Amino acid sequence: MSANPITTDIDFDRDGIQHGFLKLPHSSEQAAWGAVMTPVTIARNGAGPTALLTGANHGDEYEGPIALFDLARNLDINSLSGRVITIPMMNQPAFAAGRRTSPLDGGNMNRVFPGRPDGSPTEKVADYFQTTLLAMADVVLDIHSGGKTLEFVPLAAAHILDDKELEGRAAAAMQAFNAPYGLMMRELDAAGMYDGAAEAMGKTFVTTELGGGGTATAQTVRIAKKGITNLLKHAGILKGEPEIGPTVRLRMPAAGCFITGETSGLVEYCIDLGAAVAAGDIIARVHDPERPGTAPRDYAADMDGILIGRHFPGLTRPGDNLAVIAVPA
Ligand code: ZN
Repeated sequence: MSANPITTDIDFDRDGIQHGFLKLPHSSEQAAWGAVMTPVTIARNGAGPTALLTGANHGDEYEGPIALFDLARNLDINSLSGRVITIPMMNQPAFAAGRRTSPLDGGNMNRVFPGRPDGSPTEKVADYFQTTLLAMADVVLDIHSGGKTLEFVPLAAAHILDDKELEGRAAAAMQAFNAPYGLMMRELDAAGMYDGAAEAMGKTFVTTELGGGGTATAQTVRIAKKGITNLLKHAGILKGEPEIGPTVRLRMPAAGCFITGETSGLVEYCIDLGAAVAAGDIIARVHDPERPGTAPRDYAADMDGILIGRHFPGLTRPGDNLAVIAVPA
């Protein structure tokens, strides 16, 4: 197999703060001998654990980039023991285009792992994470949000895993992040995810869904900033104890968490994010705007729980995820 073509001026083993790029050669209409430039900041102070912090794995999710650029500007090297690697935009071309996926190759960064060193641009970046960055990490935080098509209650999540020791480490790190909601999560579509790549290497992995709609709010950015600091304290990289406020603990049972729409139309939510639902309660109704007088299609909860995620735009199509339900743990 060929070597990964990404190069960097960053020396990952040097003490101090360095700001630089992961540079991926990419020949395009705009730049014949151009490159995809992914910003990276590393702060290291002696021996200790390594945290790998990422945002904009999906390019239309903004809490991660905002909070990680803030961290890159303000990290005090003297308060560190170990190393923090910060990549605010994992899918830089997607972020630059305001899209979930890369305009270069349509690549969804969170569905292409383990990537390929000789693949598309998105696959090459994934391969670099797989072979170089994850290998250096002890604790991994990937900050997601709902993007343009989904909205969530502000939650941090760890995955339900077969390896209960690893699950326990991830759950403790997720609780230290201390979002208003803490979720033990199952994925709807886990193949090719960064999450699974990190977990398969035994890394403590925390993810988030902090909001959505293709923007960030003051509240969700505050949650991201505090969560990052808390997680670095929990990992022993920053001095001090995590600042822990109240959190609603949730888990996702094996079935019935996701409601997928089967109809096109205008969506009316009957309950809002964070509200309790009982099995049979109507969560959303989809109206056919071309046929006045016809009844809407109703979508009901399969189980008791809390509405933690929903479709964001006012219009919906078959296959859209209309609702995510979790149960109090
Ligand atoms: Zn995402």
